[in-house]
Amino acid sequence: MPYARPTRRSWAEPWKVKMVEPIRMTTRAERERFIAEAGHNTFLLRSDDVYIDLLTDSGTSAMSDRQWAGMMLGDEAYAGSRNFYHLADAITEHYGYRYVVPTHQGRGAENILSRILIKPGDHVPGNMYFTTTRLHQELAGGTFVDVIVDEAHDPASEHPFKGDVDLAKLERLIEAVGAPRIPYVSVAGTVNMAGGQPQSMANMRALRALCDRHGLRIILDATRAVENAWFIQQREAGYRDQTVAQILLEYCRHTDGCTMSAKKDSLVNIGGWLAMNDEGLFEEARNLVVVYEGLHTYGGLAGRDMEAMAQGIRESVQDDHMRARVGQVEYLAAHLVDWGVPIVRPVGGHAVFLDARAIYAHLPQDAFPAQALAADLYVDSGVRSMERGIVSAGRDEATGRHRYPNLELVRLTIPRRVYTQAHMDVVAESVLAVFDARERARGLRMVYEPRYLRFFQARFEREA
Ligand SMILES: *Cc1c(COP(=O)(O)O)cnc(C)c1O
Repeated sequence: MPYARPTRRSWAEPWKVKMVEPIRMTTRAERERFIAEAGHNTFLLRSDDVYIDLLTDSGTSAMSDRQWAGMMLGDEAYAGSRNFYHLADAITEHYGYRYVVPTHQGRGAENILSRILIKPGDHVPGNMYFTTTRLHQELAGGTFVDVIVDEAHDPASEHPFKGDVDLAKLERLIEAVGAPRIPYVSVAGTVNMAGGQPQSMANMRALRALCDRHGLRIILDATRAVENAWFIQQREAGYRDQTVAQILLEYCRHTDGCTMSAKKDSLVNIGGWLAMNDEGLFEEARNLVVVYEGLHTYGGLAGRDMEAMAQGIRESVQDDHMRARVGQVEYLAAHLVDWGVPIVRPVGGHAVFLDARAIYAHLPQDAFPAQALAADLYVDSGVRSMERGIVSAGRDEATGRHRYPNLELVRLTIPRRVYTQAHMDVVAESVLAVFDARERARGLRMVYEPRYLRFFQARFEREA
């Protein structure tokens, strides 16, 4: 087939490959057996049986030569490791917070923060829930309240900032329960569960003003805040000429602290942190981290992990890195859009979300259409994705019934700096093949359900 003359000038990744990791293609018959053995849950597959792994971008990034070099500079002293000070400096330089407490990953930071700030009966408003974040809020006795704009729940809406907080919803909550029952407003940028959708700077600024009027803290889930900064640069008036690093600093400045899963933006395989500007809060966090994670200068991490994280933070805020990172997600999405496959629009920062409700329109939500679609995609090509729908949403605490989220999605999450454009072509073609066969798809029945975060370990069988 002749190649068409290009109508654009391409960008390419700002790195070249120095080391490779072989991956293995399996047969369709093998994959049918593997997915049945895994209870039709892609979390229960062995990674050796996966060809292209788009389960998550968490801890799956490729580290740079400089990060690997940093691993050799680990100061594994129990207390006062030099790598901790490098990490704290990098966080203060790029996120702006004064005080840093390292944790083994994001949920370690969420646990400590929730235990310090949330009292039984409190309400914690947020721009859509995240699984581990909400669970820690609930375990501390709080009730999560969704205050994201309505557009976030509509996969077809083209709103450029679907991560925005609906300030009227927040005002209504403040009026109903009173500011003293709201320990903080939980804001994520970008919003993972809405499809990696960003929050605008204007919205963050307005939120800050509202919270100041009521004396409320804002705690940022900074896991993907660098990606959020990239979208502000690309989509929001007035930010074109600022660097991602500058925008990130301004964005964080409107908040009082953050929890962080460094396994995402910061380009490391493990790590996280809690950061804040308030000294009293810092003292409590530094005290509690000893109980759950480790001493306040390592928080469950090796010195070498903190060094790799410090370097990863510096690499993550580079504009050319972000262009390639989000550009690869957009490349995959553009193919699916051109071919008519329903996905969440506009495309987010870390993943392409297939609209399983639209694709498997003949399946009711309690036949787990997104779970079934993820299993079918694996059988077609060995591509591993994950469900973000009714299984992830879990059960209502009070009634014990399924929560029925509007969004019933399959997430194709792109690890950072790991796969090439050719891998994205293979993925796009496989999604198309499954889409073309959609009318033959069958639903699932849940046969094992764990109590917490059920999507990780639930098992299913095919319906006849
Ligand atoms: C991954 C993630 C977390 C939890 O972090 P872990 O490192 O997996 O514990 C919290 N919030 C968001 C938005 C995430 O994507």
